[in-house]
Amino acid sequence: MPSRRTHFNSTALLQANPRMNQDQTMIVEVRIISRIEKPLTYAVPSFLESPAIGSLVRIPLMRGTELGIVSAHPTSIDFPKSKLRNILEVLYPYPLIASDTLTLATWMASYYGCSTAQVMDRILPPGIRKGLGAKEHVSLALTQAGREVDLTTLARRAPKQQALIALLLSQPGPVSKPAAIKAARISPAVCQELIRKGWIDEIRKNVDRIGYEDEAAAGDTLRPIEYALTGEQQNAVDTLLPILDAQSFQPVLLHGVTGSGKTEVYVKALQHVLTEPGATALFLVPEVALAPQTVGTLRARLEALGVHVVVWHSHLSEGERRDSWLRIARGESRVVVGARSAIFTPLNNLRLIIVDEEHEPAYKQEETPRYHGRDLAVYRAKLNNATVILGSATPSLESLYNVRVGKYQVIRMNHRVDNRTLPSTQIVDMRREFRKNKQLTIISNPLKELLLDRFEKREQSILFLNRRGYSTHMICPDCGWVALSDECSIPLTYHRSGNILKCHLTGYEMPAPARCPQCQSAKIHGEGFGTQKVEDVVKAILPRAKVCRIDADTMNKRHLFRTILSDFRSGRIDILVGTQMIAKGLDFPNVTLVALINADQSLYMEDFRAAERTFQLLVQVSGRAGRGEKAGEVIVQTSTPHASPIQFARRCDFDGFLDEEIELRREFNYPPFRHLIRHLIRCRNPEKANFYAQNWRKHLDTANIPDLEIRGPVSAPVEKINGEYRVQLWYFAARVIQSMHQIQQLRESFEWDKDIQEHIDVDAFNLM
Ligand code: ADP
Ligand code: ZN
Repeated sequence: MPSRRTHFNSTALLQANPRMNQDQTMIVEVRIISRIEKPLTYAVPSFLESPAIGSLVRIPLMRGTELGIVSAHPTSIDFPKSKLRNILEVLYPYPLIASDTLTLATWMASYYGCSTAQVMDRILPPGIRKGLGAKEHVSLALTQAGREVDLTTLARRAPKQQALIALLLSQPGPVSKPAAIKAARISPAVCQELIRKGWIDEIRKNVDRIGYEDEAAAGDTLRPIEYALTGEQQNAVDTLLPILDAQSFQPVLLHGVTGSGKTEVYVKALQHVLTEPGATALFLVPEVALAPQTVGTLRARLEALGVHVVVWHSHLSEGERRDSWLRIARGESRVVVGARSAIFTPLNNLRLIIVDEEHEPAYKQEETPRYHGRDLAVYRAKLNNATVILGSATPSLESLYNVRVGKYQVIRMNHRVDNRTLPSTQIVDMRREFRKNKQLTIISNPLKELLLDRFEKREQSILFLNRRGYSTHMICPDCGWVALSDECSIPLTYHRSGNILKCHLTGYEMPAPARCPQCQSAKIHGEGFGTQKVEDVVKAILPRAKVCRIDADTMNKRHLFRTILSDFRSGRIDILVGTQMIAKGLDFPNVTLVALINADQSLYMEDFRAAERTFQLLVQVSGRAGRGEKAGEVIVQTSTPHASPIQFARRCDFDGFLDEEIELRREFNYPPFRHLIRHLIRCRNPEKANFYAQNWRKHLDTANIPDLEIRGPVSAPVEKINGEYRVQLWYFAARVIQSMHQIQQLRESFEWDKDIQEHIDVDAFNLM
């Protein structure tokens, strides 16, 4: 049996080494990355460095090999050590995950209802997980002694060793180690033995690929000076420093209005913890696009401390991620700035986690494991006795509630730096505009006048609309036909560039018909409007202005976003039209007018967070105005000017909004009072989807899970995507881990049809 043979080989090696005896053998517990749940036990042969907990090792398993992580160093085992197989290789001489990561992974699996292996799959970047590139830069070369070896004798005594040496002799220079091992058909242990004998040398070359190395320069131009702190900033820092020094778990909500200078407070907190040798910190941003700006700032400000800052997000290449990961693991980069997945980077001695714009739904991962970056940040801080600062101008209701019940400490900053005034907000009633203009109006008269005014004054404006494309849908006025694809239950969006109809859920595209496919009428046309149309209308109003658009359609080129933003910053663009994508955290001093083209869009979604989102959006959007010397103005266009989130946002009345919204949530027992778990069941056949959903409900009911309220099944708000019908159940739970444990057991024993896809989303954000 081949597996036996490997075992036999390594035992032979052990005995060949007189310095080794069985009892000194080091034992390690290893968790295989692809099957992390159950630990296996292995011995470490004497020629390998003993791997620390968290190290990546290659182990023999059955007939093959696997990569695993050392999870413990057991001191005794209840079977003879001679039964153990040896680990084959330690891939890096340092741990590749942080000491808390296995605990974090186990917790995530039980909280989010998936396997630890699925979690580890998400935690470890592909380059690391596959062990790829690990030895990319390791090559082998013969030493002088190796060249002089008598190959004939060696061929008889150790044919495998001979094979490798012969291979290396046949090549002019060093040979890549994995390639050589493969070509000579030997195990890494044979190679190690030859290295030990001094016949071959390992040559390691490291070229780190780290993303955004150029941002430090940009950072210098962005934030050249260390500011004298404002009173509120000073107060925030004074409150934070003792918390940081206490080195105990403490979440802090930094609730500072837009432009209150939160970044400066973060910088001071970072500088404070990083003066301690070896201390590390993590800075989470909701969007990849925001990472460069933050990295630039932090590089410029932390360089003096000799701290290297790396950026981490999924848009980096596999190589960049691997190299950054290793740098962090080696302790060479002590600060990581990144999107939600940065929460898993191997920072040891983690002292501070900052979650900027903590309310952002972008922190929620929409694939298994469906974790929330902010919530993991809080949990990781807890595991490390670290401080976590959640910052926002519009904190989530969950966090505000945690302040009210005393779980989080709050620091408020109510004024803009230098007491610049918050922008004044004008609400425009679009029903009245419609009556006046006798037609659908996209840019109201007050907005038109202000746009002209700003252009004259050479100041800049931003217009927001959360719908891309030209029209929202295409209809036939004669027969009522609406352009739909067969695959989804929402209308196709008309895009004028390319004259196409596009599905915003799946990306499906088709040419826009010139005549109604149903009645041949030529009167078919687009209705409603998206960012493309707004861009056109603005260009018509101000033909001399430079107007640019940022949305997912203009974003397919990796650097375009950065180019447009830097053109806007330098004043080459007068008016920016965009989706929410540009509402987040960006800081342009010359913007004095901001408009929300359609505030009703987010308000009337089938989502219990609609009011909260609208309130946040309005406050955030208006926060983009008047960030410099000049005061800003905000226009909110709406057909429901009296809706309470709009009114509270206009007055910037957080407490008023919170009081009202918390009461509503309490009445319906919605989050943050209980956790919402969404179970989505999908199938191409609607009857089957319903049938299984109903049966599952019965299955749940008979189990009678305590403290769990079950609602549904009902159709999801978007009934069909990609040809799949979608049915959902909602579970309200007081204690997630307990409930999920029971739900998971039932889910595994339930016989799902093979055509059914289903997933569970704990603390769901996306309810469509
Ligand atoms: P926030 O994140 O709270 O919205 P920022 O941190 O982006 O605000 O700061 C807003 C602006 O104020 C930035 O342009 C920043 O450079 C500037 N700023 C911050 N602190 C000070 C200060 N103490 N004095 C002067 N300007 C400051
Ligand atoms: Zn028609």
